[in-house]
Amino acid sequence: MKSVEQHIADVLALIPDPVPTELDLLQAHGAVLAEAVTSPVSLPGFDNSSMDGYAVRAADLESASPDHPVRLPVVADIPAGDPSPTAVLPGRSARIMTGAPMPSGADAVVPVEWTDGGTASVTFDRPVKEGNAVRRAGDDVTAGATVLRPGVRIGPGEMGVLAAVGRRSVPVYARPRVMVLSTGEELVEPGRPLGPGQIWESNSFMIAAAARDAGCEVHRHGFVGDHPQTVRDTLDDLLVRADIVVTTGGVSMGAHDVVKEVLTREGTVEFVQVAMQPGKPQGFGVIGPDRTPIITLPGNPVSAFVSFQVFVRPALRRLRGLDPRPLPSMRALLTSPVTSPPGRRSFLRAVLEESPYGRDAEPTVSPASHQGSHQLSALAGANAFVVVPEEVTELAAGSRVEVVRLPEPA
Ligand code: AMP
Ligand code: MG
Repeated sequence: MKSVEQHIADVLALIPDPVPTELDLLQAHGAVLAEAVTSPVSLPGFDNSSMDGYAVRAADLESASPDHPVRLPVVADIPAGDPSPTAVLPGRSARIMTGAPMPSGADAVVPVEWTDGGTASVTFDRPVKEGNAVRRAGDDVTAGATVLRPGVRIGPGEMGVLAAVGRRSVPVYARPRVMVLSTGEELVEPGRPLGPGQIWESNSFMIAAAARDAGCEVHRHGFVGDHPQTVRDTLDDLLVRADIVVTTGGVSMGAHDVVKEVLTREGTVEFVQVAMQPGKPQGFGVIGPDRTPIITLPGNPVSAFVSFQVFVRPALRRLRGLDPRPLPSMRALLTSPVTSPPGRRSFLRAVLEESPYGRDAEPTVSPASHQGSHQLSALAGANAFVVVPEEVTELAAGSRVEVVRLPEPA
């Protein structure tokens, strides 16, 4: 059997480097920046007031005190956006708003709260330091400086910076398009009545949701029966719009394992047994004229989910232009005993609990009591896997174990 690590490496090796595209800023949310972004201007672009108040010369208020207030005429009103603010001469002041350009002559802003708020003249009862409440040109970003590096995911903060430096579009790796297809003659669309021997199809919904949470654009194609020609034709249809195809079902040792049957013929997809539980039967390769990557997951829902997190998610990260690192791993105290087959790495669905402030209490992890690869109920609500190494077959309650946290939406 192949090791988990080897299989991850082999899957990643067939993922092509993503190609950058220029996207409008609004479309770029969640995409990964392909090139560094520099600012064409300094930010702020000009000295401006950080408060609503009065622009003054600090020297004029040197002697101001509650007993001997200083009264100055207000010679102008300077709103934000004022293209040519009136200069402040010695012994004068100007009312100024937050973000408005500093008038020449003034070297400080006195917040309105420190004054009587006058409009024709204003009274100050305390001195002010030079530079008070003034935001200097370039104190955030200097012209030409790099504000974002390549490889950064564009979240809210990055969107803000991009707009603030005047970018309308950016070179990014767009969200990869993932096509999800399930196979199985027994499958029925949820919402439709079940016949004997049939089950409602769940994998494609689950995998589509996981791929979307991993930052991809997902098309759930649904499912097809176990007919080789239908599977082949459907894959051909999907390829046109796919950066990667993910299938579930039909890859183990059964007589009707249609995905394996169809794709083994292609010669570009390999089917292997990976030393893990669940998720032993795996397939991966490329198909079609563009050599589109395809990952074929086993049909048992829990196997499909675990395989997605272990193999598909890193591949999707690479397609997004991110480094394909594994899920974050930590150690926690096991609350009940677990077993694991020899020679296979187990991924047990579990609930990880961390004390909200992290320090005093050690995190605990409680494995779900139903660990069968068909037992979906234990997956819902799980936020982590307990990872039992290949050479370990049992772990007692109270052991400190490796836990990987399931991802939050990206
Ligand atoms: P397979 O890998 O196709 O042999 O399927 C293994 C098990 O998973 C069988 O019990 C299937 O009925 C079940 N299964 C396969 N595909 C799905 C699916 N899309 N949704 C729910 N269960 C499935
Ligand atoms: Mg099947």
